[in-house]
Amino acid sequence: MKREGFTKVMGVLAVLFVLGGAAGAFWLAKVRATKPVAVEQEPGVESAAYTLAKGDYSNLTYDNISLDRPVYDRYTLKQRLAKGLPTMLPALPHYTAEKVAYLTFDDGPDDVNTPAILDVLKAKGVHATFYVLGGMVEKNPEVLKRIFAEGHAIGNHSYDHDYDRLYASKESFVEEMEQTDEAIFKVIGMRPFIIRAPGGTVGMFTADFYEHLNLLGYVEHDWNVLTEDATPEHPSAERQICYIDRRTAGHLKDNMALILMHCNGGKEETVRALPGIIDNLRAKGYRFGVVTPITPQPW
Ligand SMILES: [Zn+2]
Repeated sequence: MKREGFTKVMGVLAVLFVLGGAAGAFWLAKVRATKPVAVEQEPGVESAAYTLAKGDYSNLTYDNISLDRPVYDRYTLKQRLAKGLPTMLPALPHYTAEKVAYLTFDDGPDDVNTPAILDVLKAKGVHATFYVLGGMVEKNPEVLKRIFAEGHAIGNHSYDHDYDRLYASKESFVEEMEQTDEAIFKVIGMRPFIIRAPGGTVGMFTADFYEHLNLLGYVEHDWNVLTEDATPEHPSAERQICYIDRRTAGHLKDNMALILMHCNGGKEETVRALPGIIDNLRAKGYRFGVVTPITPQPW
């Protein structure tokens, strides 16, 4: 009797199991059939370390951009144009809520001073911005990878710093920006929006440059503080620290020190000055940030 009851219970359970399985399979098939056609997956690797623009720029909002996260595009300009995606960035307010120092290093990456600067930044726990040259990126892709992996921002500083070719027209300027974007894209799989005109825009850009660059989504930043490390005087580290101290002593427009330095060959004094520059700015109440599309303009 006991055994018969057991067999009955098992039989009922087996029937329920089969019915349950059939219902499950039916439900799954229905869900599969009604699931909408998947939209084309956008390229690029998402990460908490940076903001990666969507094709339609819908995630490029003020709240989505922070001082500690560089902003990149998953498409090159050519890819955007070919896909009919927007190129001009949405209008964004500037970040002026705190005293922020943006350390920027132009003309790299080389394989000596740039790694030495990265070592200092790592030791001090500071993120900076590197405006790189396309030619240097092709020579030292591993250093660019390190800049990227350590959370610094990468900006475009032209292919080879040749003023004649670069400033011949707005079209030739953009051509060089794209050439450098391609070099960067090959290494990190994304491209920057931020650029810096070699020598600065003053006396280099004619009025038509600004609108052209704006339509294509390039955001240019000059600087308002500098160490003069690229001048013929080659100031010593001590002098460079002194320059920064003096130039950040008073109130700066928009609470911002946008500091120009260099990280290529011959800039050993910059490497030596950097710890002192960082300590000096910290003592003045500055925090550090990377350049993004919400970074104020220096003037
Ligand atoms: Zn330069």
